[in-house]
Amino acid sequence: MQSKYAVTAQTFMDAYKYPHKYAIRPFKICGNLYYVGNTSVSSHLIDTGDGLILLDTTFPHTYPLLINSIWELGFSLYDIKYIVHSHGHFDHFGGTVQIAALTQAKTFLGAEDAKMFRERPELMLLKDCPYSYLEPFTPDVELKDNDTIPLGNTTIRAISTPGHSPGVMSYLFDVTDGNTRRTAAMHGGAGFNTLNLPFLREYGLDAEGVRGSFIDGITRLEGETVDITLGNHPNQNDTVGKRGRMLANPSAGNPFIDRTEWPRFLADIKKRFSIMLEEERTSTLIGLKTQI
Ligand SMILES: [Zn+2]
Repeated sequence: MQSKYAVTAQTFMDAYKYPHKYAIRPFKICGNLYYVGNTSVSSHLIDTGDGLILLDTTFPHTYPLLINSIWELGFSLYDIKYIVHSHGHFDHFGGTVQIAALTQAKTFLGAEDAKMFRERPELMLLKDCPYSYLEPFTPDVELKDNDTIPLGNTTIRAISTPGHSPGVMSYLFDVTDGNTRRTAAMHGGAGFNTLNLPFLREYGLDAEGVRGSFIDGITRLEGETVDITLGNHPNQNDTVGKRGRMLANPSAGNPFIDRTEWPRFLADIKKRFSIMLEEERTSTLIGLKTQI
């Protein structure tokens, strides 16, 4: 089943061949939080008042767009202090080696994905990446569940939500908007492309364990009150549509601020996940019947 949140290999190939097609002008989401990603993969920038935090660095081939977006917003690349990753698939760390080298920024990744880099590098999904020059980075900080990342006016809380990859980290932090603070959250890996049976079998992964931890992670996040739902792919939270509404009607309320979105987002993942499992069961049964 093609998940709404799955990013296909074809999308990756297109992004490599025609990266300009994925360009979107950067913009302020709210307060000190900005969108600097493209229309396929997200990247967010937080201005902490004491340096910048960059969340994910997109594809290897779109990182020049990312760098341009940061400059276009009036920030200096050299003020990036931390690069924090949602998980260790190549579409989220494609520009990390280069940007870290340019800025000396400290890099963060879930500890289990750092281990995956060392022991199961094929799980970075590099075979979907046609550019051999992509280099995995060595994170300066390997994040564990409930670690915090403080910088300036911002403290990011990391919550371990494995499944999509072993070291997926979901992040919660307060967005500062004048005297108002709002909670933003991002599930670090909501796609099912690594949770379906063919994938799990191909890579010899424990399907029950991986899928159980994915659902456990969703359940943990359900307890959080969130004002701004972010996606590590922009289709997860309709980033592009919301930006369009912002531009079309700037005096209307900020479409990114919606406390009802987070529970709806998580419930939708659970529902679609159970549909995928049911479809697998049904197709397995059909397979058995035809064998009989
Ligand atoms: Zn991924």
